[in-house]
Amino acid sequence: MKTALVLGAGGFIGSHLVKRLKQENYFVKGVDHKHPEFSKTAADEFIIGDLRIQNFCAEIFNQSFDEVYQLAADMGGAGYIFTGDNDADVMYNSSLINLNVVNLCVEKKIGKIFYSSSACVYPAYNQEDPDNPKCSEDSAYPAAPDSEYGWEKLFSERLYLNYARNYKLNVRVARFHNIFGPEGSWKGGKEKAPAALCRKIAEAKNESSIEVWGDGKQTRSFLFIDECVEGIWKMMNGDFEGPLNIGSEEMISINELAKMIAEISGKNISIKNIAGPTGVRGRNSDNKLISEKLNWKPNYLLKTGIEKTYRWIEEQVKS
Ligand code: NAD
Repeated sequence: MKTALVLGAGGFIGSHLVKRLKQENYFVKGVDHKHPEFSKTAADEFIIGDLRIQNFCAEIFNQSFDEVYQLAADMGGAGYIFTGDNDADVMYNSSLINLNVVNLCVEKKIGKIFYSSSACVYPAYNQEDPDNPKCSEDSAYPAAPDSEYGWEKLFSERLYLNYARNYKLNVRVARFHNIFGPEGSWKGGKEKAPAALCRKIAEAKNESSIEVWGDGKQTRSFLFIDECVEGIWKMMNGDFEGPLNIGSEEMISINELAKMIAEISGKNISIKNIAGPTGVRGRNSDNKLISEKLNWKPNYLLKTGIEKTYRWIEEQVKS
């Protein structure tokens, strides 16, 4: 039986990944400073603690693992990473976690480590045109991420890749693009656009309006959680180190996304665009490299994923 350590196993992607690893018959140890919020963990062992603390990290690495998945990070949607209020915490907390983990992976001779970076590493100057953003993997430099969260991800990508070069650590680095789906944060300030819009519409009365940050013309692509987990799986079982985009190429404006959700809800909702944190004007995954390296790319329709997510958030709002 293969062994896996999932860091950030109490979070959105981590808790879904643990389920998949269990289906694949792994022994899974999950670690987080909180339990998954919406369902019981599928991990064989779940340890609560703070990965910023070196001694705690040494305790969880008391054995070797075939695979480590490093998903723990201080993160959130636009309301968390673009206001500037959380920048120091984001950089300090996430770097410390990665510094602790990467070193222990070498010490404990970990077979392979997956690190989740982000589309937020891409330079703001390539994402000013909402209809034509550039996010190919090789466009990350000269670096100019639009948030401190992006800068930390860039630093940690380099950290893992340098450990690969200097200490022969077997790493996989992925850049996730806006992952969404059931059991993701949907309120409280850390939620992303799809969940926030689903919540606003689920809470709204028919024939009313919802507020959408910015002019709504900013574009993004969103990847359904099952496809993200499949991408992680494919990457871990392939031999390309990365960085590799794991995202959808189905770009949509935020106002169009809101309209899609309103249609799914069956309510007549109008959109009121208001000032708010928005990030870059346009962003879309570029899946040329993933197709080439893994002979696979995500192809789930946005609307199918949004339907599932809306129904789940509607239930949360009611209960
Ligand atoms: P999430 O916030 O749901 O999960 C992260 C988990 O890390 C949380 O459960 C949190 O409690 C845990 N954590 C944070 N600090 C910790 C600490 N000091 N000790 C122990 N646990 C700690 O986020 P997610 O959406 O599941 O994202 C997983 C990873 O993917 C993150 O690294 C994130 O930056 C990256 N990512 C996510 C997206 C996305 O759209 N969700 C996009 C790009 C990158």
